[in-house]
Amino acid sequence: MKYKKTILFFLLFVMVYVFFFFQAERIQMLSTFPWIEANIQDVVWYQKENFDFEEINILSTSWETINGLYLSWTKNESVFYFHGNGGPLPYFYSEIKYIHSLWYSVFAYDYPGYGKSTGVPEIEKVSEFSKDFFEFIKREKNIRNEDLIIWWYSVGTAVASDFASKNDFSKIVLVSPFSSRYDMGKRWFFNIPPQKLFFMGNSYVTSEIVKNFSKPALILHGNNDFIVPFSQWKQVFENYAGEKIFIEIDGFWHNWIIDEYGGTLKGIFSKFLSWESFDFQYVFLDDQKIKLLDQENQKEEQEVLFFSQDFENDTSFTKYVSREKSFEVLNYEPQDLVMISWENISDTKGGQVLREEAKIQLGLLAKEFFREFWVPLKIISAYRSYAYQLGIKSGGCNDVFCAKAWYSEHQTGLAVDIFEASNQNDFLENPDFKKYFTWMQEHADTYGFHNSYQKGKEIDGYEIEPWHWRYLWVDFAHYLKEKNITFSEFYTHYILKK
Ligand SMILES: [Zn+2]
Repeated sequence: MKYKKTILFFLLFVMVYVFFFFQAERIQMLSTFPWIEANIQDVVWYQKENFDFEEINILSTSWETINGLYLSWTKNESVFYFHGNGGPLPYFYSEIKYIHSLWYSVFAYDYPGYGKSTGVPEIEKVSEFSKDFFEFIKREKNIRNEDLIIWWYSVGTAVASDFASKNDFSKIVLVSPFSSRYDMGKRWFFNIPPQKLFFMGNSYVTSEIVKNFSKPALILHGNNDFIVPFSQWKQVFENYAGEKIFIEIDGFWHNWIIDEYGGTLKGIFSKFLSWESFDFQYVFLDDQKIKLLDQENQKEEQEVLFFSQDFENDTSFTKYVSREKSFEVLNYEPQDLVMISWENISDTKGGQVLREEAKIQLGLLAKEFFREFWVPLKIISAYRSYAYQLGIKSGGCNDVFCAKAWYSEHQTGLAVDIFEASNQNDFLENPDFKKYFTWMQEHADTYGFHNSYQKGKEIDGYEIEPWHWRYLWVDFAHYLKEKNITFSEFYTHYILKK
């Protein structure tokens, strides 16, 4: 009698234990994939964002509904995005939008039981969904495996590494990855026997799976992440067989890492996704500043604050065009062109236009210039349209002097020519012009202007043009001046160099 209670309690314990033993896989899945229903349209509407995607509903092999989305872009490469936990696809729409803003098509689906997808998130079902969804998209959108980029975030680690182990791909981006579900279980459910049973399967051991990956990877993790400890990325990083880059974000935790740092890291993402390799392996991001570290001792090698600017998009203030590099849209025309002001400026043609920010900065520069010389800043040429440049070229101006149409910095709406001269000698032999030029070299960066062609054909692609000044925004122009490099040198050295 005395032990009756104890025996009953023990039997109950054994029953629960046995129940959990057989349910282990399901429980481990549910603890990783709690499902929440939400409609992406509702979330997007709530955020009042214009999110123009194609919704996809297909049937899986086992007749479940797979709900997903596809956002198209013109590049050949496409990103297969595996979302994080804590909610369905719509919760991650800002990250999807971000990837799309890097000029890639993106597709993603909701895990079984998530959002509008049906089913239960068991291992087999998740694998089946990945496979069925990819095969559908591949067929419908003509995607080739060699153009496939896999991008996963947090819990997506498990699903995506499983998918990547069965499908060829070109690159992989791992945002806040964990080493395995067993390690995550240990962390969250303590190291006690029932837990060991729940996670005994230890499926999805990403840190083991990545030993077979040979394609380049970019891994991103906050060093103050208490959800997935920083030590776990290390295992993934160290085991990853292919070329790899790690980005450590100082003081940051787990959620919304792309929302917070995507802007700063845009240059690195663009470069990683469009080029093969880097000359550094470790990036330390501290207070929105980027430091590139060398591979051996992780000592600071160089600090490149402006690495992350967008040099590719025609509308970017740091759009790079050169003799070899044109606009993406040939007849690109800035949308915010305004007439330059007459104050402290003499507009030799009258009615010349620049993009608004460049116009404002030029006004400030001219004011300072006037204060110094009591001469208005003489603007010979500002924005030149594609059609206008075509006209110049048909007039017979050669390629080292006049850019080909759709290759001219003037088409950015950010460049001006000041004080006319037919060549650099004529310009610099004019004592006034020489004075002005020396002053501009000293002060123009304060207003964001940079003398693009100052080192000659070999470096900048064009003859020296002391009259040609390009607005790049203040910090960047200042940086180029401090380093004594031209925009072309910067682009060639930091952005193109492999
Ligand atoms: Zn010019």
